[in-house]
Amino acid sequence: MKFNFPVETLTKIDTPFYYYDMELLNATLDAVATESGKYGYKVHYAVKANANDRILTAIESKGFGADCVSGQEVQKALDCGFASKGIVFAGVGKSDWEINLGLDNNIACFNVESIPELEIIDELAGKKGKVAKVALRINPNVNANTHHYITTGLNENKFGINQWDLEKVVNTLSELKNVELEGIHFHIGSQITDLHSFKDLCLRVNELQKWFVSHHIMPKVVNVGGGLGINYEQPDEQSIPDFASYFALFNELLELMPGQELHFELGRSMVGQCASLLSKVLYIKEGVQTNFAIVDAGMSDLIRPALYQAYHKIENLTSSLDEEKYDVVGPICESSDCFGKAVALPKTKRGDLIALRSAGAYGEVMANQYNLRTLPKAYYSDSL
Ligand SMILES: *Cc1c(COP(=O)(O)O)cnc(C)c1O
Repeated sequence: MKFNFPVETLTKIDTPFYYYDMELLNATLDAVATESGKYGYKVHYAVKANANDRILTAIESKGFGADCVSGQEVQKALDCGFASKGIVFAGVGKSDWEINLGLDNNIACFNVESIPELEIIDELAGKKGKVAKVALRINPNVNANTHHYITTGLNENKFGINQWDLEKVVNTLSELKNVELEGIHFHIGSQITDLHSFKDLCLRVNELQKWFVSHHIMPKVVNVGGGLGINYEQPDEQSIPDFASYFALFNELLELMPGQELHFELGRSMVGQCASLLSKVLYIKEGVQTNFAIVDAGMSDLIRPALYQAYHKIENLTSSLDEEKYDVVGPICESSDCFGKAVALPKTKRGDLIALRSAGAYGEVMANQYNLRTLPKAYYSDSL
């Protein structure tokens, strides 16, 4: 299935805006459900990738849980219908009100990243006469081979508990009365396209499981996080990521103990291909080597190129002339407000409709109002 542009209708809508192909989203979600279901794995969707109500509602309706990284995300997941027993809460810096919100709603699990955090969850749970379920986020020191800003599983990263501290952590856990170990949690990074990194993760998890066995601890849940990448270069060649190979790899390599559940927290791979940011060309400005195509979307609408030097495929939906090269830039007063350099596009003129592809993940949710711009609107294929 390919992303479908109803170009005639889209040209009538004020730009810039996000356009969601709901059929592609649903087909992607069905693929995740089918492939993870083969092995009885549970998937919590990482809300931070896209917290749009329509998208969350679609994801909830397919039976997925929610992986949240802020109190606001926990509240949003609840508001969009996710059951509290399907909500897990991660993050290195949870505020007291966020922990209390999780406790009040009896969420499934807090993914804990340090001893001081464990102690505060214990204290706040105690005040409420509750026992909080926690998973230890362990830093597996596995390289995700991705952009260094989105690598999270190395010793030098701020995330997770390092292995040499585990002894201390489980000792603390055994002393605290209001927290109960539910599982162990890992997340090595994002936009991982080389499955070898996940293979390394499986082998590390197997090793760590032995450590827990030797300490007579059996975590009920093993949560291996998310990070599966998508094909930004050729979104139509692979509009649905290869979930079959991904889950099969864990089934083949990760050794679960009897009764243990395997959980995942996929974000980008579930929503990345289902949206494009649509924009119109304002001006063609002559440049030294290449001309500039100045469009009405900017880094405030889609920040990934400016923030991580990320690539988004750019298409001109309304021209079919011979190709020329353009630097495609936005109107914002920053040199980094550039979507692509020397991009080959059919000869482009003012008013042409431009699509920035694969913008479903970390797109609309990261939009901001820099330069006092308005936030981009969203439109959906099933309700145009
Ligand atoms: C961001 C994040 C995810 C999702 O990552 P994707 O690359 O979007 O799949 C999962 N778990 C945690 C803890 C995260 O921070």
